[in-house]
Amino acid sequence: MQASLYVHIPFCHRKCGYCDFNSYAMAGAIVEAFVEALHREIAQTPYAGARVPTVFFGGGTPTFLDEKTLAGILEHLARQFRIEPNAEITIEANPGSVRAEQLRALRQAGFNRISFGVQSFDEAELKRMDRIHSPQEVYQSVEWARAAGFENLNLDLIFALPEQTVERWASNLEQAIALNPEHLSLYALMLEPNTRFYHLYQKGLLRLPDEEVQVAMYRLAQARTRAAGYYQYEISNYAKPGYECQHNLVYWRNEPYLGFGPGAVSYMEGVRWTNIKHPREYVRRLQAGESLVLESEALEGWEKVGETLMLGLRMTAGVNLAALEARFNLPVGAHYAEVMAQLQARGWLEQEGDWIRLTDEGLLWHSEVALAFLE
Ligand code: SF4
Repeated sequence: MQASLYVHIPFCHRKCGYCDFNSYAMAGAIVEAFVEALHREIAQTPYAGARVPTVFFGGGTPTFLDEKTLAGILEHLARQFRIEPNAEITIEANPGSVRAEQLRALRQAGFNRISFGVQSFDEAELKRMDRIHSPQEVYQSVEWARAAGFENLNLDLIFALPEQTVERWASNLEQAIALNPEHLSLYALMLEPNTRFYHLYQKGLLRLPDEEVQVAMYRLAQARTRAAGYYQYEISNYAKPGYECQHNLVYWRNEPYLGFGPGAVSYMEGVRWTNIKHPREYVRRLQAGESLVLESEALEGWEKVGETLMLGLRMTAGVNLAALEARFNLPVGAHYAEVMAQLQARGWLEQEGDWIRLTDEGLLWHSEVALAFLE
């Protein structure tokens, strides 16, 4: 059996204004209790012995925990599972909360990819987002990460921020590229309910770039990264050749993964389930020996195919219909012939032999394409 592993560390120093991730500005005894509970969850996995091609520590802010604690969690996973010798092992890090010794210890513990949540290089934008770091701390932490031996480094940036102009975004992009990361994740800001940004927007107090400007920013990201030697392998992700994020590819290929920690999602043997979200309830349930499952669904035949297509079409390489037919033993090409013809007529989808992929225009409309395949 094979499964990628995701570990969710749900703590942050402060909640960012745009963030709807399962993260909490908490500290003190709950953190220790959470670490103990996480070890308990790992110890009782029914999938011990599974082969593991990728591991990802995300959050929240994984580097909220000290290096010893993080190394201890990774060691525990290595005892429970068969992590492949060349596995990609990623940790997300906040440039405002890392230390040089911490990064050295994490690299030594086996983490071999680091992903920094940079978001912007502009002081005012960072402040508006409630980020805890400064642009200088980004430069410093990248330098420390390189010195620690991280040769696979990602920077996350957000565009279409409040008040942001195309010029401002271009400057952020240039500063990111100048740091020469192997990978860039460039996301458009999403306004999510229950965030400070959302409430400000409702009150008319948040000025966001209009759709035309957002598209211009996206096109600029595509052009600048291409010119700098990156290739776009997913809607929001750009890599130097050979540095695609293997862990995210597992999600987009709809392959099995196991999530540990509050709110973590797992997908094994056609069943997807989500852990209870709040850290206190997560701890309580593990202490009481109760189930962690918040919700669970078993995906059947065509549901699995629809999801695999929807996720797979996020990748610029697209999806191989023949491989999908063999995987699910269903006539995928014939079943979706009409949907595909409609999408092709709109100029959103193209077919080449067994491969279908979204066109450059289609990538902008991925959410509508997804609906077409899920109906
Ligand atoms: S650091 Fe990341 S996870 Fe934490 S609040 Fe900010 S955006 Fe959310």
